[in-house]
Amino acid sequence: MAETKKIAVIAGDGIGPEVVAEAEKVLQKVGEVFGYSFETEHALFGGIAIDEKGTPLPQETLDVCKRADAVLLGAVGGPKWDNNPKELRPETGLLGIRKELGLFSNLRPAVVFDCLKDASTLKPEVLEGTDLMVVRELTGGIYFGEKFRRETEHGQEAVDTCAYNVTEVERIARQAFDIAMKRRKKLASVDKANVLETSRLWRETVIRVAEEYPEVELEHVLVDNCAMQLLRRPSSFDVIVTENMFGDILSDEAAMLTGSIGMLASASLGEGSYGLYEPVHGSAPDIAGQGLANPIATILSTALMLRLTFGYGEAADAIERAVAEVLDAGHRTSDIAAGRGDSLSTTQMGELILNAIRK
Ligand code: NAD
Repeated sequence: MAETKKIAVIAGDGIGPEVVAEAEKVLQKVGEVFGYSFETEHALFGGIAIDEKGTPLPQETLDVCKRADAVLLGAVGGPKWDNNPKELRPETGLLGIRKELGLFSNLRPAVVFDCLKDASTLKPEVLEGTDLMVVRELTGGIYFGEKFRRETEHGQEAVDTCAYNVTEVERIARQAFDIAMKRRKKLASVDKANVLETSRLWRETVIRVAEEYPEVELEHVLVDNCAMQLLRRPSSFDVIVTENMFGDILSDEAAMLTGSIGMLASASLGEGSYGLYEPVHGSAPDIAGQGLANPIATILSTALMLRLTFGYGEAADAIERAVAEVLDAGHRTSDIAAGRGDSLSTTQMGELILNAIRK
């Protein structure tokens, strides 16, 4: 039996508990099939934590996360807390947890499953073979730089500062190169080096780090061009690395190639192998409690956890294969059914995937 891995499980609000329950069953099954041992500890976060503990991110939740090797998160938020003051909003907890756990990068894979090509707004022949990963810097850049307003002779002026230092760029670049080494060994570094000083430092630094990874083919793409190329030749990308705001925009664009938000996984990583894994979607209050949520995004996030934090690539492959097999057999939850055939409930979809997991 392998060493026991500790996972903090934070189900959150809305459909969070529904989709996380399916992912936990998958973890258990993977343990049985591959001989891995997982220990889960549950904690409150988001709206439910506001209701029960008076804060979206209780200290005990952070303690549970810090004791663990990885965190599995559902989703937080909902109309009940929308009008709360900032410190009592579930989303404030999201920023807090990333900061407290030192998570400086966000990874979003965009994989187009052959049988779901029709769900995208792009032509199937353009999407063919698309399997890319956007690595976004998460704690620097314009979102975190100094912000202020001042009076000028032309009225009020607002300023947002974009800053990056070499250390911040180096660590995200290394992470992206490491990921590229485990994939098809191609990295596109996205910047705006023709205009921005931060981008020129970004590019110089990435070029220097690239010397440590002679096997990885590196290209530099300007952000505006990247936005176009993602729609024109998505399958030519393997790993894309970029700064915070560019990554925010490009990862949403890349996500839409796949057609459905219920399919999109993500990982947020810090130093070492520690990571927080969550679906890209939110708490979907409109369908919460009805058993309609697609659990695949959360199940695929669990596969990312197995691969990136625990190095259990074989088990991650088995989960991804199981998902593809179930989809290929024509099974769908309502979000990806496109009006065709019966649609499955959250637990029915979870069950089918569970049964398809094998060595
Ligand atoms: P959302 O992702 O929750 O929902 C958008 C649409 O997609 C809805 O119609 C929903 O039913 C559908 N959808 C989402 N996930 C689905 C799934 N797994 N299966 C089937 N359909 C799915 O985004 P929203 O409506 O903008 O936000 C709802 C709440 O979630 C808000 O309070 C928001 O702040 C929060 N939110 C949280 C996170 C997070 O926890 N990381 C992320 C985004 C939004």
